Amino acid sequence: MFFDTHTHVNFSAFKSDANEVIKRALACDTWLINVGTQQDTSTAAVELASKYSEGVYAAIGLHPVHTWQQMLDEEESHFKSRQEEFNESEYTALLYSKAVVAVGECGLDYFRLPEDNKEKAIKKQKAVFIAQIAFARKNNLALIVHCRDAYEDLLQILKAEYAGMPAVIHSFTDTWETAKKFLDEGFYIALNGILTFDKTGRLAEVAQKTPLDRLLTETDAPYLTPPPYRGKRNEPSYVRYVVEKIAQVRGISLEEAAEKTFENAKRLFKV
Ligand SMILES: [Zn+2]
Repeated sequence: MFFDTHTHVNFSAFKSDANEVIKRALACDTWLINVGTQQDTSTAAVELASKYSEGVYAAIGLHPVHTWQQMLDEEESHFKSRQEEFNESEYTALLYSKAVVAVGECGLDYFRLPEDNKEKAIKKQKAVFIAQIAFARKNNLALIVHCRDAYEDLLQILKAEYAGMPAVIHSFTDTWETAKKFLDEGFYIALNGILTFDKTGRLAEVAQKTPLDRLLTETDAPYLTPPPYRGKRNEPSYVRYVVEKIAQVRGISLEEAAEKTFENAKRLFKV
């Protein structure tokens, strides 16, 4: 079994075929968590998950880039980020569904800050992140954390607000030294297609040295498509290419890598 712990079949890129994509994943023994980035994508994630009795789950939360309105360029598709507040009562209303297994994606993103208002935007991101940490704690849910160019600040906040609690640093892209700091706090590390095309060797080192019981796999679809589908839309069933790469760098079988990362996800998200 495989587990795509971070995917976005709830995004408009899958508007016409979301359920076909999900069924294709399930047919490939792949379970998945659709992750929200704001109010409407969180709602869509819950609605999709509610259609399946097993294997399809939802995370609800507010992505740091959506705490401030600006134009962004994500994998060559331009979009306008929305300025949303973390409205706890609206997110609480989504907890009617047992398919909600995590809060996220939330966190810090210093790569995409508004030029004219950096300090204020950082302050806002931190406040919104801390509010979601409290929400996860209160509802006994795991945390799916997004981080770009902000690992030091992120670690400080997690240590202060969420020590010893269940969290994963999703789409991890930093060095082994940084990964180790999060692992030392008991958090999980999730790797995706970037591992398969990272030429620096940095993520291979993370894939190799992270204890096998703390490693998760994901696609972050529709983005970050691994070979042999590079350039096309990514989807949950392609998570096997990430697992293959992990098996290869660790010198273990695909079966073992799949089984262990699947168990890790089940343990973290209590499914
Ligand atoms: Zn994502």
